[in-house]
Amino acid sequence: MSEQSKNFVTVTEVGTRDGFQAEPAFIATADKVATINGLIDAGVRSIEATSFVSPRALPQLADAAEVLAQVHRNPNVRLAVLVPNARGAERAAAAKADMMVGFISASESHCKTNLNKSIDQAIADFAEVVPIARQWDIQLRGAVATAFGCPFEGEVSLDNILKIVGSYDSHGIRNITFGDTTGMATPPVVTCVVDAVRNKYPDMEIALHFHNTRGVGLANVMNGLQLGVREFESSIAGLGGCPFAPGATGNICTEDLVYLLEECGYETGIDLEKLIGVAKQVEQMMGRQLPGQMMKAGPRLKLMSLESVRRAVG
Ligand code: ZN
Repeated sequence: MSEQSKNFVTVTEVGTRDGFQAEPAFIATADKVATINGLIDAGVRSIEATSFVSPRALPQLADAAEVLAQVHRNPNVRLAVLVPNARGAERAAAAKADMMVGFISASESHCKTNLNKSIDQAIADFAEVVPIARQWDIQLRGAVATAFGCPFEGEVSLDNILKIVGSYDSHGIRNITFGDTTGMATPPVVTCVVDAVRNKYPDMEIALHFHNTRGVGLANVMNGLQLGVREFESSIAGLGGCPFAPGATGNICTEDLVYLLEECGYETGIDLEKLIGVAKQVEQMMGRQLPGQMMKAGPRLKLMSLESVRRAVG
C-alpha cells in the first residue's frame, strides 16, 4: 500500500526529542543514535530526532549535530529537528536535517515560561528561520504547542492558535502539528481545534501530538482518525513526561499506537515486533519501567505456550 493510500497513517516518532529532553541524566550519544537506528530498522519513516535549541538551555540535546552525523541516514526517512530561531536553523542546516520544525506555544504564559519569549516574538524569530531553510532546501513544518489547554491559562484561545497557523501559512508552510504539551486534550477539544483550523485553512495538513498525561491519549487518536487526520506523533516506550505534572506519563506510546492503528485496518509500514524490541532496549537504557503496554503484553494474537503459564503460576 502506498503512502498516498487513504488508509496510510504516518507515525512520527518524537521520543528521542520530546522523550529524551525530559530525562535528567545525560543519555549517551551512542544510545540516542542506536535508538534512532532501531526505529528506522523497524520501518519508522518520520522521526523528530532532536532539537537545536541552545545547548545551555537544554544540555540533554547538546549533541544534536553528533546524533544527526552518526545516524544511518536513509533517503526514505525524514529526520526532523526543532529549531527555535535563526541560530538553531544554521546549526540544523549544517547538520543536514531533512526538516526544520518551528515551535510556538498558543498560550502566552506557556510561551514565556517555556521559550522565554512572547508569542509575537516567537513568530518573529521563526520568520528568520524560513530563509535559512529555503537556502538549504530543507522542508519546514510548524508546531503549535499547548494547543489543547494550558496549565496556567486553562482553555487556550482559538484566536492565538489561528494567529500562529496564519503566520506559518504566510511562509508557505503546508503542514502543522498541534501539540498537547501538557496532556489536556480530550476528544471534544481536539474536534474544536481541528474544525477551527480547517475552516480557515482548508488545505493545511494537520498532524496531532498527544501526551497520555490523563490516560486519554489513544482516545484522542481515534477521534483524530474520525476527523480524517492521518499523522500522529508518539514516543517509543511512552517516553517523556509533563513538567507541570510530576510523575505523569509522557507522550502516547509509539508501539501501542501502531498496534491500535494496524488493528483498526490502517497501514503504518512499521514492523510491530521490531518496534517492541526497540522499546525494550530503550527501557533497559533508562533503567526503569516505562509506560508502554505492548512491550509488556504483546499483540493480542501472540499466543502463549501453556508450559510458560504453568511455570508462571507454579
Ligand atoms: Zn510533547
